[in-house]
Parts: sequence; C-alpha cells; structure tokens
Amino acid sequence: MFRLIQLHAHLGVPRIGVDPDGYASERAALARYRATPATFFGVGRFDEEGTLAEIIMDAVCGPLGDCPRPATVVHAQTFQRLCEACGFGLDVLSVPELAVRLGIAVRLAPVLARSGRHAAAEFAFTASNRIAREFASRVDDRQWRAELCAELARNPSSVNGLLIGVGALSHRDVLDLYPALCALGSELPACVHGDLLRATARPLSPAGVAALRLGI
Ligand SMILES: [Zn+2]
Repeated sequence: MFRLIQLHAHLGVPRIGVDPDGYASERAALARYRATPATFFGVGRFDEEGTLAEIIMDAVCGPLGDCPRPATVVHAQTFQRLCEACGFGLDVLSVPELAVRLGIAVRLAPVLARSGRHAAAEFAFTASNRIAREFASRVDDRQWRAELCAELARNPSSVNGLLIGVGALSHRDVLDLYPALCALGSELPACVHGDLLRATARPLSPAGVAALRLGI
C-alpha cells in the first residue's frame, strides 16, 4: 500500500504526515502526487501491518517544481527538496543522511514519462503555457490577474507558467510593470504566495526571482 506523505519540521524535529488515500502501486501514488505539487513530500510505502517502511522522495527541486535540475538533497531544517545548485551553501542532508534522521529508508523516485502523468498535470501544463505566453502583455490588466489567480487556485501546478512569464521579463519590463507585478503579488492565492515567500530564501532560483519581481 502506498500513501502520499508530508514531511514537516516542528521545532527542528521531523514530523511525517500521511494522506488517508491509499494506492495499490508506487506509480499510481506518484502520478497522484505529481498532480498536486507543493502539497506532499513524496510517497510512503506501508507494509502489511500498516507501518511506514520506506519513503520515495520526489526528485523535483523546490516546492513548485520550477527548477529543472533533479533534487538530490533536502534542507536540514525545513526538509525542502533541493538540487545541488539550489542547496549550495545551505545546511542540507543527503538522501542517506535524511534516512538516518528519520529512521526510515528513503530513496529517490524514478522520473515518470510524460504519457504516464495524471490528466490534471497535462491540463496544468497547457494552462502554464498560456499564462507564460500572455504574462508580459496582460499582467497590467486587473481582470486578467483575477483570472490568473483563480487558475492558480484551481491548478497549483500552473504556477510554472507564472514563474516562466515573470522570469522572461526584461529588467526594463520589470521596471515598467512593477506596480502591476506588486499588485499581482498581493492578489495571489495564499498557498502560492506562501511558496514564493519561502523561495525568497533562494533568490537565484526561478521561484526566488519571481517572488522578488512580484514584490514578495
Ligand atoms: Zn534546484
């Protein structure tokens, strides 16, 4: 049995949260996991007694999946997944070190082929493309921003389009559009705003760049 798990730090101590929905295969659990990025840490494998036997850690860097490099470490305090570049200079744990810290085996998830992804992820992919394409020309339109925020609330993974759109702006665009960018920053759904706020700790990551440009 496989279930989606969360990994939080409480006063520096790791806490594992378990989603009630169970999946018969690792692949099904991972597909579900990838349809709701930023919500879970990975997939837990439970043995016949219902004990958590192994954690399959997603190989996506960061909560938003914005960084193209595979995660290889976690932040030692927050357990955020990070690639080597985003984790550079930070206090991080390798996968074996994380396993020791948790007392549970941890391994990295295999990369899923695009055709194996959940339909919601496909939908978010097309929404992301549209958001990225329209961003520079539409962000100063209040109505467009309201529709974007509704889309982000419905499809958390469409945040990738926001990151691409914001990241593609020239410095001149950022100056010209700064009032609209800050307005959008204040209008974002709370979950997206929270993820971007945390990303400011990594100002060179795509999410960190987007957060700063959105005045977060
Ligand atoms: Zn990274």
